[in-house]
Amino acid sequence: MLAALTALTMIAMQPASATQWPGGARAAVVLTYDDALTSQLDHVVPVLDKAGLKGTFFLSNVKRADVARWRAAAAEGHELANHTVFHACAAAQFSADPRYTTEAYTPASMLTEIEQQNVLLTAIDGRDAHGFGLPCGKSLAGGVDYLPPLRTAGLVTYVRGALNSMDELAADVSTMDSMHVPATDFPDGVRSAQLIAFAQKAVDGGGMAVLVFHGVGADYLRVSDADYQALIDWLLAHRGEVWVTTLQGALDWARAHPGTKE
Ligand SMILES: [Zn+2]
Repeated sequence: MLAALTALTMIAMQPASATQWPGGARAAVVLTYDDALTSQLDHVVPVLDKAGLKGTFFLSNVKRADVARWRAAAAEGHELANHTVFHACAAAQFSADPRYTTEAYTPASMLTEIEQQNVLLTAIDGRDAHGFGLPCGKSLAGGVDYLPPLRTAGLVTYVRGALNSMDELAADVSTMDSMHVPATDFPDGVRSAQLIAFAQKAVDGGGMAVLVFHGVGADYLRVSDADYQALIDWLLAHRGEVWVTTLQGALDWARAHPGTKE
């Protein structure tokens, strides 16, 4: 009875038109991991599995030696998503062979690459449809925005877009443009306090927080194992307020459970 009253109180405290998350949770927190880094298989998947949580992994440049473990992660309920085959970024943003910079692409060649990464993902996880995360958070190919043709082509179920868009946290996720899902990445060596503060901001705003990780305990743009574990522990301790799910899971739920209108 007390639990029911508490749940009702929490729903009443949410801003009008906020998404009604399952179990009376005040916010959805989505843990995403970019670039198919082996440290994610070594240091993230076991921690999430032990905690009973699911993550979303944006794969690019997939290593042959890791395919079986990505397949196993997908079979356990983690989401595999498209991050292109080669992860092209603007030449000025990320040093790379000039053939693999976005200046060398056209929207058509980028869409072809995204389609081929979908084929690879389907071969790994057996799923027909996948979400997409923009490499380096940008959608230019040869100086042209490829989001309009990507939307028309219907190749992906959503686009995790520009990074560090905290202002959109409180938006009604059910009406959010799924081709512009905001997300936030963190600097190398980020501490757990900053990660937890971001999740808390989502709780306060009643929306969805999409966190972007790269290396965990190894690789680049790294968070330490201890700081990562502290975030997971905080999420588990706040299970009543926070729903941790995949990005596809959060968007599907929000679409099916529109917010209350005034
Ligand atoms: Zn990336």
